[in-house]
Amino acid sequence: MNLELSEEQTAVQQLAEEFVEREITPHVIEWDRAEDVDRSIVKKLGALGFLGLTIDEEYGGSGGDHLAYCLVTEELGRGDSSVRGIVSVSLGLVTKTIAYWGSEEQKRAWLPRLTSGDAIGCFGLTEPGTGSDAGNLVTRAVADGGDYVINGTKMFITNGTWADVVLLFARTNDTPGHRGVSAFLVPTDTPGLTRRTIHGKLGLRGQATAELVLEDVRVPAAALLGPEGKGFSIAMSALAKGRMSVAAGCVGIAQAALDAAVRYAGEREQFGKSIAHYQLVQELISDISVDVDAARLLTWRVADLIDRGRDFATAASKAKLFASEAAVRAANNALQVFGGYGYIDEYPVGKLLRDARVMTLYEGTSQIQKLIIGRAETGISAF
Ligand SMILES: Cc1cc2nc3c(=O)[nH]c(=O)nc-3n(C[C@H](O)[C@H](O)[C@H](O)COP(=O)(O)OP(=O)(O)OC[C@H]3O[C@@H](n4cnc5c(N)ncnc54)[C@H](O)[C@@H]3O)c2cc1C
Repeated sequence: MNLELSEEQTAVQQLAEEFVEREITPHVIEWDRAEDVDRSIVKKLGALGFLGLTIDEEYGGSGGDHLAYCLVTEELGRGDSSVRGIVSVSLGLVTKTIAYWGSEEQKRAWLPRLTSGDAIGCFGLTEPGTGSDAGNLVTRAVADGGDYVINGTKMFITNGTWADVVLLFARTNDTPGHRGVSAFLVPTDTPGLTRRTIHGKLGLRGQATAELVLEDVRVPAAALLGPEGKGFSIAMSALAKGRMSVAAGCVGIAQAALDAAVRYAGEREQFGKSIAHYQLVQELISDISVDVDAARLLTWRVADLIDRGRDFATAASKAKLFASEAAVRAANNALQVFGGYGYIDEYPVGKLLRDARVMTLYEGTSQIQKLIIGRAETGISAF
């Protein structure tokens, strides 16, 4: 496997790096404190093609391979995980799923808007009573004439209050467990759909995380994405690829932690020398550095497997598990290098740690990733 980036990949990485320095870094503290990201960022992400990566140009996409997608996601994660999450969910979970499972009509209706940033998407799987056990969700979609009428509540939905369309998972028949679940594309201005921003998050504070309540939301049969009853497979296939982009975002967090720790260790003097001279400080930096490299290599392997059309789901779980835990460790180690200043939000590392913490929870907790990997190794499902 050749780990050298192509000219195209290097160019897209540089574009993302410059974008982060220009459009994100100057605002990170302000957005975190305000619990809001400037929404004009979405159109800017679209204009550079970052919301259309891996999608066919025919539908407004910007093409590129999955490694290019990882490189952009890593850079955005280095800048601000709240912005990275907009792309991971809108492109990674919604646009890519419509591109794969959508009818021609659905692709024409949604893809050009989503890839340009004219619209953004959210992914409505989790409910108040079902997180890890998503297959037992209780939101109902009942056939009525040529329509479906949907009732239920979705919890912790990233982009929820900003989104124009929800990729929504609802039960269409009484078969217990995941076999009764179907996927729908529900425009968020459909009557009966209300949204509430969830405030007070530990991290990802700039992100529009929301609760969605659906009361007699009526959608036409054409809103069904993929075959009826296939919704859970659609959700799981979306999340498997989504885990690669979460992992890439975590590499970005760990890289930001490394950069900040090295810079600070070189500047801060104690006992007459910069703290970079002390071996115990070097140990912290060395641990972060190894985590960055290992997480990146596991993540790039997933991109390579996807681009070569190979099985990637277990590799994606391994990358997501390792990279998310590594991002938490790296940010925590960097905070230690910063001493007391790391605990103040004028310095970057506290936010990195707060943002990293959710990565071991969403898109499948670390425990769920271990069960997926354990099932692949033993052939025995613990679910
Ligand atoms: C900021 C944020 C953004 C999110 N964005 C989205 C989104 O866009 N769309 C969406 O659908 N969801 C989203 N989620 C939801 C997220 O995916 C869930 O929180 C996650 O799946 C865990 O579910 P839960 O919170 O209900 O925890 P639970 O499932 O209740 O788990 C609680 C604990 O029990 C453990 N556990 C559960 N089952 C097992 C088991 N079988 N074996 C061992 N341990 C187990 C878990 O690992 C965890 O430690 C988001 C969450 C957050 C916090």
